Amino acid sequence: MNKTYCRNCEKETVYVIKTGIQESVVKGVSIHTQVEHAYCQECGAKVFVPSLSEKNLSRVDEAHRKRIGRIQLPEILNLLEQYNIGAKPLSLMLNWGECTILRYLRGQLPDKEHSDRLLSLRDPEVFSNLFSERKGILTGVARRKVDKSLADQLKPDTKENIKRNMPKAALLLFFDQEPGDCNGNKSFQLERFVQAVLFLAQKGIPVTRLNYLLWLTDVLHYKRKKESIFGVPYRRFESAVAPDRHFWIYGALTETDISFISLQNEWIVQALHEADLGGFSESEQEIIKNIRTRESRPTEDLIPDILQKISMIKPFHEIPFSLAAEWISYGSVKEGVLTNDR
Ligand SMILES: [Zn+2]
Repeated sequence: MNKTYCRNCEKETVYVIKTGIQESVVKGVSIHTQVEHAYCQECGAKVFVPSLSEKNLSRVDEAHRKRIGRIQLPEILNLLEQYNIGAKPLSLMLNWGECTILRYLRGQLPDKEHSDRLLSLRDPEVFSNLFSERKGILTGVARRKVDKSLADQLKPDTKENIKRNMPKAALLLFFDQEPGDCNGNKSFQLERFVQAVLFLAQKGIPVTRLNYLLWLTDVLHYKRKKESIFGVPYRRFESAVAPDRHFWIYGALTETDISFISLQNEWIVQALHEADLGGFSESEQEIIKNIRTRESRPTEDLIPDILQKISMIKPFHEIPFSLAAEWISYGSVKEGVLTNDR
């Protein structure tokens, strides 16, 4: 039996609940809702029960929002759940104050513009556009959560998607080789390769330089862990080193991830968006970051007489990782490029 204080009886009494229709006026809009009121069983007077009163208020609020076309509170919660994102990160992605959506969750009525924006995000395509523009402000963990929920919701079989994904799918098929000395004991890691390219090409980088730095990154990691990072074979390319079929790989990334700019006699690779190093281990990140930091200085000293060493490889032949690892000078280990080596 539920009891509450009855002012008429001046004591706690048992109450009964009766439903009825109530008219409320919210900001000049008349709204009719079903409400529940409690009455003292002994004297019949209306009594106050906080939980019922709260429920009635939220019914009025819900009806009011519906009436004026604003997003409902449960719909905001559904939206956060739909994309596995928190109220604060979504607020930031929308360029609103950090606590804006939190305030809406506490019951504040969003203005028409905010309400419409939130409602539009129920469409995964719309959300996906916002996400690709603004995901840089999310943490790696938050980003991956959203990424995963989006992947499940976006229709994977649209023509546009197939066209966009086919080049990468072909790469995965082509580079699907057993781990061995040619790929540094690692199967092909396309996504990490792409992120490293984005990271190194953030400010634009000549393609020959990019090729060389990717190779150095892989060889340095191989020297430390007997395993490469990207699982891609490298070949002698003219008097330099390049990932196998590198123009094909970069071609698959143009327009979505990178663009090519012609500068004097060089092709410059320019990243089109930020890199996400979240998929790399700490030691992998350390090497990639070291390599980029050294970018401003000549890195040839990592491998003394590099040109002469490369000339020993037949043109367009693969350079085994075990051989390349021997070329790395011991000095670079001491300099900290290979920290934690022992
Ligand atoms: Zn009473």
